[in-house]
Amino acid sequence: MELFAPVNKIIPFSLVDGPGSRCSIFLQGCNIACAYCHNPETQNLCRNCGLCVEQCPAGALQKLDGHVRWNKEACVQCDTCIHVCPHKASPKVEWLTPDDVFETVNSYQPFIRGITVSGGECMLHPDWMRELFSRCRAAGLGTLIDSNGCVDFTAHEDLLDVADGVMLDVKGWDPEVFRCLTTGDVSTVKRNLALLAERGKIEELRIVVVPERNDPEDTIAGIAQTLGEAVGTTKLKLIKFRPFGVVGELASATSPTDERMAELEQLAHDAGFATVEIR
Ligand code: SF4
Ligand code: SF4
Repeated sequence: MELFAPVNKIIPFSLVDGPGSRCSIFLQGCNIACAYCHNPETQNLCRNCGLCVEQCPAGALQKLDGHVRWNKEACVQCDTCIHVCPHKASPKVEWLTPDDVFETVNSYQPFIRGITVSGGECMLHPDWMRELFSRCRAAGLGTLIDSNGCVDFTAHEDLLDVADGVMLDVKGWDPEVFRCLTTGDVSTVKRNLALLAERGKIEELRIVVVPERNDPEDTIAGIAQTLGEAVGTTKLKLIKFRPFGVVGELASATSPTDERMAELEQLAHDAGFATVEIR
């Protein structure tokens, strides 16, 4: 059976999605809803309500047989459809097979070192990713997963066999803090963290510091304890919350100060992390 995944965007060359120049593939649809999400339009699949169709200034949207169709060639990328969508979705999504994406990715050789699949939440499409990664590896390309950690990786260890590593978000540590910020279950993230550490598949860990909303001290300590000796060789990224693109209650929230970030950086070093990056 042919596999399809909803592809929101493919960035040919990115320097911020893992080591070296990489092609980044963003899938539409997420399994959680973070209060600080910077791309809320990637959270859900289109419900075909048709509201955006009439608003499109370029006639690039049409409703046919109950489905909204996007004409990529006619689209002028004004993002009006995204702004008017009440469902945190986008009509600008293509359902592609692993072969479709591989063909695109392969056309960027030899200018990329590998690919990174992100979201939304890419782990909602593990079989699709496994096929794409297998093709990329055979072509000499690296393969990274960028995940919120809220899908159980233990059910997809065959995907990890063909993935170089995972860039994993750890958005909080206390179950209630995590649930309030993301709607998700932190126990899955913790289980995944332990599994990835055991398999040597952590590319980097990331904590977004959101003032008064999450618990970075406990998160750093909890991660360090889970990693054990591997803490010294694991890269930790501490990311400042920024309200850019955020909708809802955190749209006007403030970023943490540089002093606060420096304090957390020191705490991370004290907990054993040798490589800590502030962003
Ligand atoms: S971004 Fe959306 S609204 Fe704008 S031209 Fe493209 S499909 Fe139409
Ligand atoms: S993108 Fe949003 S507004 Fe447009 S049809 Fe889909 S759900 Fe409706």
